[in-house]
Amino acid sequence: MTGKRRPSDSGVFQIVGEIRKRGAGASPGIAIGRAYVVDRRRIKTPKRHVTPDEVDVEIARFRAAIGESDAQLERIKEKLVAKEGEDHFHILEAHQLILHDEHLVDETVRRIREEHVNAEWALRRTVESIKEIFDAIEDDYFRERRSDIDFVGDRIMRNLLGVDVATVSPPPDAVVVAHDLSPGDTAQLHRAAVAALVTDAGGKTSHTAIIARAHEIPAVVGLDDITSVVGNNDLVIVDGTNGLVIVNPEPQTVAHFRARGRREAAIGEALLANRDLPAETIDGLRIHLYANIDIVEEIAGAVDHGAEGVGLFRTEFLYMGRQDLPSEDEHYLYGKSVLEHLGGRLATFRTFDLGGDKMGPAGTTFSEQNPALGLRSIRICLTPTGRPLFQAQLRGLLRASVHGPLRIMFPMISGVGELRDAKAVLEECKAELRSRGEPFDPAVKIGVMIEMPSAALTADQLAREADFFSIGTNDLIQYTLAIDRVNEHVSYLYRPLHPAMLRMIRTVAEAGKAAGIPVSMCGEMAGEPLLTLIIVGLGIEELSMNAVAIPVVKSVLRASTIDEARQIADLATHLPTPDEIEDLIRDHMTKRFPDSSWK
Ligand code: PEP
Ligand code: MG
Repeated sequence: MTGKRRPSDSGVFQIVGEIRKRGAGASPGIAIGRAYVVDRRRIKTPKRHVTPDEVDVEIARFRAAIGESDAQLERIKEKLVAKEGEDHFHILEAHQLILHDEHLVDETVRRIREEHVNAEWALRRTVESIKEIFDAIEDDYFRERRSDIDFVGDRIMRNLLGVDVATVSPPPDAVVVAHDLSPGDTAQLHRAAVAALVTDAGGKTSHTAIIARAHEIPAVVGLDDITSVVGNNDLVIVDGTNGLVIVNPEPQTVAHFRARGRREAAIGEALLANRDLPAETIDGLRIHLYANIDIVEEIAGAVDHGAEGVGLFRTEFLYMGRQDLPSEDEHYLYGKSVLEHLGGRLATFRTFDLGGDKMGPAGTTFSEQNPALGLRSIRICLTPTGRPLFQAQLRGLLRASVHGPLRIMFPMISGVGELRDAKAVLEECKAELRSRGEPFDPAVKIGVMIEMPSAALTADQLAREADFFSIGTNDLIQYTLAIDRVNEHVSYLYRPLHPAMLRMIRTVAEAGKAAGIPVSMCGEMAGEPLLTLIIVGLGIEELSMNAVAIPVVKSVLRASTIDEARQIADLATHLPTPDEIEDLIRDHMTKRFPDSSWK
């Protein structure tokens, strides 16, 4: 690319006239279009003291604003159903739940009553105090749920002030530029065929990112101040693959990105052409490729990318942004809807993995000194307080099992004792359903996530009592190498290709094979095309990943033999450092796939 680089403040650099900003690439792809800036600047919150006899009026105004906000969300939901079925529904429903959340409502009313301030001020203070709680959470995914509180607070505030809560309606092919987008906004945006989304706020797990990925709209989030850099109608290039946004690009930059966009689209199309072909090596070993999914809306895109089903459904989303707990019926209906969207393909539900750094509703999670090693996941499920939640989920999932192929897997199992405890709860749930006369699949398969060295090293024993394994490499790396997966100071030690990891993966694969049960891998490693051959060479025959990675992983498999994969795995397991292993793999894959962009 030509032009003179001139660094300015962090993250921004200019090539004469054009402005470049880096954020988080939230949804891949390149788009070029005119900006449509969503004006969601903070509205000024008036502060006023009220007299004791005005208190009731203020409370009534506040309650009316909640009612109006509720009605508006209901209308958006109806519009969505009319247009595209029940997708996005639960996000809007979560917003409705937040609207009526006890803490939000009672705390605002208390402030009006005790501090004698107007409704707007009381609401603002309450929203801030709730957000502070969210700010303290380390997990990105859950921390970003504070934006839900913001959206809801903003809606109530606008209704209190009588300010228009305008819907976002960009012209076709616009690049939507916003401080942040509410799930309601994003849900409507894809219908308007926007070219791309860019936001100041958010991370890779924000709603904007999830929905953009689900609808394959290129998106860059976390740009800090893109809304103050871009004006309406400015020409904008969005490179969602690399997290880059270019405002008012020079003609040669546009030409460069247009060419790259065309090239990438052609490669994507070519890869997608393998969608209905089996993930099979040249010499006939069939590998199964599944998708990791967080919300039901992602399923259609996953199937379009060739997912044979869902290998990991993270159910934490169901517990998020609410104070109450999902009931058995809610789990049942959700499970049923997932299976319906999958149309006969397999769904693997992981029971909730809350706790530690993943925030759940009040009473389910605790503040701990060392959360990664604390009361999280299956450990919560087996406590007296967690057990009823676990049972509600298990009964709901069991009931859903009559609607399609469904497997259940337990996260964070440390060994056979815990597996037996969890299975005993499952048996109680089955007994209760039987006594109620509720149908379920009595042979529903039960799997164990292998995420701790203790589980990997006792895989032979676990294999005798489980129907399948799924290796959660994200946590397995964390616990094997003793590095906090959310701590950037030790991220350089996070090495999937550490010899200890390769040994454990092989141990688990061999234990599964000996017991005749399938072994899957569902951590981020599974979706890295660079690692496909070594993983399969170590004996893994099911991979579950971000669905967009499926076509490229499949293309690697279809161009290789299992012998080649085993040879590279054997060579790698004799090397003593992650660097040497990585060099070996990179050299091999560069020779074998010289034209690929992922090496
Ligand atoms: C893992 O640990 O690899 C995994 C898939 O689970 P999560 O990332 O949700 O902890
Ligand atoms: Mg995990």
